[in-house]
Amino acid sequence: MILAYVDHRDGAPDDASLEALTLGRTLAERTGWPLEALVVGRAGRAAAEALGVHGPAVVHVAEGDGLDGPYAPQAWGAALAEAVRAASPKLVLSPGTDRGHETLAHAAAALDLPMVANCVDISPGEPTVVLRQRWGGTVLEEAEADGPTILCSVALHAVQAQPAPAPADPEVRPFAPPVPEEAFRVRVIDRVEPDRGGVSLAEAKVVVGGGRGVGGPEGFRVLEELAGLLGGAVGCSRVVTSAGWRPHAEQIGQTGTRIAPDLYIACGISGATQHMVGCRGAKRLLVVNEDPEAPIIAHADWVVLGDLHEVLPAVVAAVRAATQD
Ligand SMILES: Cc1cc2nc3c(=O)[nH]c(=O)nc-3n(C[C@H](O)[C@H](O)[C@H](O)COP(=O)(O)OP(=O)(O)OC[C@H]3O[C@@H](n4cnc5c(N)ncnc54)[C@H](O)[C@@H]3O)c2cc1C
Repeated sequence: MILAYVDHRDGAPDDASLEALTLGRTLAERTGWPLEALVVGRAGRAAAEALGVHGPAVVHVAEGDGLDGPYAPQAWGAALAEAVRAASPKLVLSPGTDRGHETLAHAAAALDLPMVANCVDISPGEPTVVLRQRWGGTVLEEAEADGPTILCSVALHAVQAQPAPAPADPEVRPFAPPVPEEAFRVRVIDRVEPDRGGVSLAEAKVVVGGGRGVGGPEGFRVLEELAGLLGGAVGCSRVVTSAGWRPHAEQIGQTGTRIAPDLYIACGISGATQHMVGCRGAKRLLVVNEDPEAPIIAHADWVVLGDLHEVLPAVVAAVRAATQD
C-alpha cells in the first residue's frame, strides 16, 4: 500500500499535497498497490471529499484533542507514525513543503525508518530506487533506499497535480493515535499573513520579480503596479531582502519561496543558481536586464535588453492601454 500524507488548511488540501498524491497515484498504477491518504485533525474530514478526485481508496483521519488544534510537528509525525505502524505501507509520500518534511522526518525518526527528501520519481523494489533533487534542485541524484517502508517527500512542483481519470468516493477512517503530551511542546501559536493584496507568491499565476537592478525600495512601485494590473504577486532576489528593500516572504529561491506561475517577469535579476531553483517551475520566463551576458538570459523565453526603469513604465502604460480598450 502507498500512504500519502496530505496537509490541509481547515479541510482544504494544499497544492503540494495534491502533487504528492498525483505521484502516489502514478506509482499505485505501476505497482498495483492501493493508494490511501492520511490527514490530521477533525477538519481533515472535509479534505476527504476533496481528495476523492485524486484517487485514494481510503482517507485515514487522525483525530484527538491536540490533533484538532494548531499544527505541532512532532505530534503530526507521531500520528503519521501510528498510521504506518497500523497499515504497514510500503511507501509513504509527503508534500515537499517545510511542514511535509518536518512531519515526515518526525515519523521516520519515531519509526527508525529511512526517509528520502525531494524525490521526483520513485521505483519501488528491493531496494527502492529514488530520483531526487539535491543542492536546492541543482543536482539530480539516483539513490537506493532499503527498508520495509520508505518515507519520501515529493519535490515541490516536480509533479503536476492532476485529478484521477475516474473520481472515487474514498472511505473515511477516523482513528485516535496515542500522542504524548510533550509532542505538543512545539506548536503554532499565531499566524501572521503577509499583506500581498490577496495573491500568494507560491500560487500566483503571474510573478513580477525584482533584483539588485531595481535600485531600492521605491523602485519596486512600478513592479507592484505591473503585478497589480496582471493580477499577480511581487517577488524578489535575496540581495533585495538582505538589503531590507522587501520582506523575506517575497524572496524567491533556494532559501525563499518556490514559485510556479504561468509567467515570471524577472527584472534586474542576474540569475544566480540559488535564485533559479526557486523559479524553475515557471512555465514562461520574461527577462528584463541591461546585461546581455546575464546568466538568467539562458533560461528565458523572452528577453528585453534595457534599463528596467525605462522598460517597466512603458510596459505598464501598454498594459493599461490594452486593458482600457
Ligand atoms: C546559501 C545561499 C542561499 C541563497 N539563496 C538565495 C535565494 O533563495 N534567492 C536568491 O535570489 N538568491 C539567493 N542567494 C544569493 C544568490 O547567490 C545571488 O547573490 C542573488 O540571487 C543575486 O541577486 P540579484 O540577481 O538581485 O543581484 P545581482 O547578481 O547583483 O544581479 C543584478 C542584475 O541586475 C541587472 N541590472 C542592474 N541594473 C539594471 C537596470 N537598471 N535595468 C535592468 N537590469 C539591471 C544586472 O545586469 C544584473 O544582471 C543565495 C546565496 C547563498 C550563498
